[in-house]
Amino acid sequence: EPAYGGSGTEDYLRIVDVRKEFDGFVAVDDTNLSIRKGEIFALLGGSGCGKSTLLRCLGGFEKPTAGKIYLDGQVMNDLPPYERPINMMFQSYALFPHMTVEQNIAFGLKQDGLAKDAIRRRVEEMLALVQLGKLAKRKPHQLSGGQQQRVALARSLAKGPKLLLLDEPMGALDKKLRSQMQLELVGIIEKSGVTCVMVTHDQEEAMTMATRIALMDQGWIRQVGTPDEIYEQPTSRFAAEFIGSVNLIDGVIEDDEADYVTIRSPLLPAPIHIGHGISGFEGQQVSFAVRPEKVGIGKAEPEQPNNKAQGIIEDIAYFGSHSVYHVRLPSGYKFMANFANVQRWASEGLTWNDPVWVWWGNNDGVVLTS
Ligand code: ATP
Repeated sequence: EPAYGGSGTEDYLRIVDVRKEFDGFVAVDDTNLSIRKGEIFALLGGSGCGKSTLLRCLGGFEKPTAGKIYLDGQVMNDLPPYERPINMMFQSYALFPHMTVEQNIAFGLKQDGLAKDAIRRRVEEMLALVQLGKLAKRKPHQLSGGQQQRVALARSLAKGPKLLLLDEPMGALDKKLRSQMQLELVGIIEKSGVTCVMVTHDQEEAMTMATRIALMDQGWIRQVGTPDEIYEQPTSRFAAEFIGSVNLIDGVIEDDEADYVTIRSPLLPAPIHIGHGISGFEGQQVSFAVRPEKVGIGKAEPEQPNNKAQGIIEDIAYFGSHSVYHVRLPSGYKFMANFANVQRWASEGLTWNDPVWVWWGNNDGVVLTS
């Protein structure tokens, strides 16, 4: 089995054909993943997609109906949670309220029967790692939400697990603290060197924290990739729409040439030209996806021959760093174009009901077949 399980850094954690059913309902369908040593890997998806169930299978809190889980070459399936070299940090942190910070961190080490000296040294290391040395004697209720989270993390890392599982780690924090803690957590996890799998429904959180993301939908992994791969090269409509906002245009491949294809859509006045690595066949139903920040907007007709349309500004949404212009085309389709507000001077005069052009380059979008 070790030959199949792998123990290298590339497949430090291997999930092989893992499936989880509850009374015939498939929560996680035959799933395969290889996770590298030291990665922060995010399982991302909407409510009910199966991400928590998969995480719980890793922790040993659920037993897979089928498939195998290997960590560092060792099969995990038959080990109970407490015998796995794995620790899970729960959303609620589950700190012991009557214990001090250092007692909380020491708890698991004590249970393992470590010598007092060794425990003290390890607790000090952990306090330094999460920078809470000054608060060692406090109880959880005397800590802020962010500090509680760091204690929970220190406690999870104290035993030096091979794998750290994070269940919606920012769930209990407000939005501002969240983005600060995301980076802080990544810093601590990277310093500790632990391999980490986290569950989140928040695409921003996954993009900020993870080295790679598995995007899940109805028990299936739809796409695995780095944050920018998933954002720039979504392989399905689902992925394109789940992460960020996108202009999605359904059409049919009209012309399939060696170095470009064209897609005809009733939503646009002329065929879309795409000049990069796609293959399809004439007549194939596809969707074209282009992110709003790749779309230009202005009053003058752009000089490029293709990939442009005229419309009317119907909405302008201000987001501080940029504004999103919603441009209604004669077909009724609403095209989104971003305008960075550093160039605000350039958008002056663009306002509601103005006739404008939108345009994008031959290499600025992707073609999706599913
Ligand atoms: P959320 O973000 O809402 O927690 P999730 O993606 O984590 O969603 P899971 O908790 O993994 O989703 O659940 C996946 C599916 O499996 C859901 O449809 C859920 O109802 C079902 N499920 C989970 N646990 C059980 C259980 N113990 N018994 C029966 N069905 C379950």
